[in-house]
Amino acid sequence: MTEAPTDVLGAIPPDQVRVRFPPSPTGSLHVGSVRSGLFNWAFARHFGGTLVLRIEDTDEARNTETGVASVLDSLHWLGIDWDEGPEVGGPFAPYVQSQRLDIYADIAARLHDAGAAYGCYCSRAELDERRDAALAAGRTSGYDGHCRSLTDEQVAGYQAEGRKPVLRFRMPDDPITFSDLVRGDITFQAEHVPDYVLVRATGHPLYTLVNPVDDALMQITHVLRGEDLLSSTPRQIALYGALSRLGIGSGSPRFGHLPVVVGEGTRKLSKRDKGSGLAEYIDRGFLPEGLLNYLALLGWGIAEDRDVFTMDEMVAAFDIRRVNPNPARFDLKKCEAINAAHLRALPAADLAARLVPYLQRAGLLADPVDAEDEAMLIAATPLVQERSTTLGEAVDMLGFLFVPEEKFRLDPDAASKMLTGDGKTVAQASYDALSQVDGWDTASIEAALRAVLVDGMGLKPRNAFGPVRVAVTGRRISPPLFESLELLGRERSLKRLGAAAL
Ligand code: GLU
Ligand code: ZN
Repeated sequence: MTEAPTDVLGAIPPDQVRVRFPPSPTGSLHVGSVRSGLFNWAFARHFGGTLVLRIEDTDEARNTETGVASVLDSLHWLGIDWDEGPEVGGPFAPYVQSQRLDIYADIAARLHDAGAAYGCYCSRAELDERRDAALAAGRTSGYDGHCRSLTDEQVAGYQAEGRKPVLRFRMPDDPITFSDLVRGDITFQAEHVPDYVLVRATGHPLYTLVNPVDDALMQITHVLRGEDLLSSTPRQIALYGALSRLGIGSGSPRFGHLPVVVGEGTRKLSKRDKGSGLAEYIDRGFLPEGLLNYLALLGWGIAEDRDVFTMDEMVAAFDIRRVNPNPARFDLKKCEAINAAHLRALPAADLAARLVPYLQRAGLLADPVDAEDEAMLIAATPLVQERSTTLGEAVDMLGFLFVPEEKFRLDPDAASKMLTGDGKTVAQASYDALSQVDGWDTASIEAALRAVLVDGMGLKPRNAFGPVRVAVTGRRISPPLFESLELLGRERSLKRLGAAAL
């Protein structure tokens, strides 16, 4: 491996850059896949080029009913926009591979006719047997080229037996070298890249065919994708070459393989890992810009001493050559910290607006929001802004203000710790003191509670205010207490303190 090449574009004018994001619609996007989408998006936007969204849904077994809609919704939520693809169309439509089967059948036939691919009649059992023999003899175990040059007679014989061929690509006999934009020069020896299947015996085209074919037809100039796909790159490079000899596309795009994302230990982050699916982040109320900022850090950084940045800043600074090829560790704590930084940086009115759908989902706000609740939300939002990692946490803290009195409940664990014995006495004393307060504002509330609980009863602030907090907010973690009481209002505060004292 050598230095990454300095030349990203070659002779391609920046605005002619074309990259693609080709997810398979198999359910909620995986964060690793979102990272690939983000890097392609930033690359396209940086150069003023084109991002193509292509839906790779020819592997029917893996697709889900709602897959495509879920991919599009996810990208909308993230704010990753595309220039060609579903919803927007474009000169190479359709962009959904299951609608392009005629194209693949035609190109497969042309590859076959040109001799770039051939029919392979080997049965599974024959392939297995020869592989085992090769392994036993210490040779490589891939396809052995058995059907590369069958005679017409042999073909006729197989067909008479009723065998149906797969279409296999004829790999060149020379090594394949390319210059990866992240990893530098890479060479694959021919014996490590055997002839591979493009089309099943049923006529069903595989990823190995349709992905490069569409890259060629859609004039993709750069392919940025995960390192897990590196082993398919030499096969694809050979196929782009064969296609261009048929007048399809203009040879191989440039490649940049993004580092593998690892979870706990050194294992690749998998779909089953906690924190691997985008849906979880939407659900918890991450901000799209916070999550994207963190995902950008899985291989890239804006500067040594800086972790928090906007997407505009990323677009301006993005350089694929500065992506680190080493495995990137997924760290949920760091992801939360980055999100919290973005949450703190929002104008309070913006934060309030983003909280609305989450409060509605929790049944705490009506749709549309009524005016009184809206005023309450605007007043309360600054109190949780510094204390929340996610919108979900903010909603948990704000819930006590919006819940109807008859549905207000204490967190059982908090109540059993804070509102038994002495806690009840504190609640009663607070009720009595606050009943006497004239103006219901933060300063008067604080003065009254301090006078009775700290000065009068000699309690430490923690023991004094903890029970009050649980009584009025239902939880041990809340916005600042005296402000909370002011916002909640005299009537509701006293009602809750009274109930807690019983
Ligand atoms: N549909 C493939 C995937 O989601 C695309 C891989 C590629 O970028 O070439 O894994
Ligand atoms: Zn064969």
